[in-house]
Amino acid sequence: MMQAVSMSREAVQDVPVLCADIGGSFIKFGLSRAPGQVEELERVPVPKTDWSELAAALQQLADKVDAGRTLPLGLSTAGLVDPVTGTGLSANIPCLTGLPIAQQISQMTGRSVFAANDADCLTLAEANDGVGRGHSVVFCIIIGTGIGGGIAVDGRILRGAGGVTGEWGHGPALNTSVEIGGKLRHVPRFACGCGQSGCVDTIGGARGIEKLHRLFHDEERSSHRIIDDWQARDEKAGETIAAYLQLVADPLAVAINTVGPSIVPVGGGLASAAALIDALDEAVRARILNRLDRPLLVPAVRREDGGLMGAAVLARQGVADVRAA
Ligand SMILES: [Zn+2]
Repeated sequence: MMQAVSMSREAVQDVPVLCADIGGSFIKFGLSRAPGQVEELERVPVPKTDWSELAAALQQLADKVDAGRTLPLGLSTAGLVDPVTGTGLSANIPCLTGLPIAQQISQMTGRSVFAANDADCLTLAEANDGVGRGHSVVFCIIIGTGIGGGIAVDGRILRGAGGVTGEWGHGPALNTSVEIGGKLRHVPRFACGCGQSGCVDTIGGARGIEKLHRLFHDEERSSHRIIDDWQARDEKAGETIAAYLQLVADPLAVAINTVGPSIVPVGGGLASAAALIDALDEAVRARILNRLDRPLLVPAVRREDGGLMGAAVLARQGVADVRAA
């Protein structure tokens, strides 16, 4: 029986799958002809408020490539997808909220449809076809406009209750004081969009770096400039980044001790600031129980096509599960 399952899983590996990345502005639509490969075919504006328009757009994109409606479709969506009910919750695309996304589109199109949130799709892409390949436990973190993450075990996403897994950016985690150059500085617990205060999300992204700089030095600088100035050994920027590293590395170390990853791919806008990710990696490794003498946090390599690639992995695994059942 075990062998039959693994054979059927192998067999579906060659099936082409359709994939879509529904972001805040665009639907990227693509085709993956084989594992590890994805091709973006088209990009259209995302209808945000009207569900039927969004579904029709997806149907049209899919039918253009596969009129016979035989290929499965994987969806990466901005927002959460509940693994039990399949319903979405999205601040950026309000019409997804409360809808069983995959089920509805499957009914409309007659295809098999599988959906997961964008952080989970990036995690799948990194775990199967990125820097996490070959690692059993992959904790992918997003440091961009917001803070997020996902966990994959043996190449499969861990789907937590309510679709919430790896979300180390939320929960009142932050220390309220940091030590910079021997001085203790107070950091207020900023209010977060999730309704709590003191979440990593409030200071962890690009806007967060700017907020900390404003707090300590009462001046406006862009996150890019603060990072550049820090590397050029500017004193004020150095203090801001020192505080940032403490405030982010503390809760991240707790998350890493809890999850136990052997690799932490970093996605999101700040992942392109290599020096910052290096410094964060060093700060985190000094705080975790499992002492490593190699980098743990590394920039994700699927930052450009992670949504499409992850959606394709999701579709292949979904089809394999259906056949194995
Ligand atoms: Zn929060």
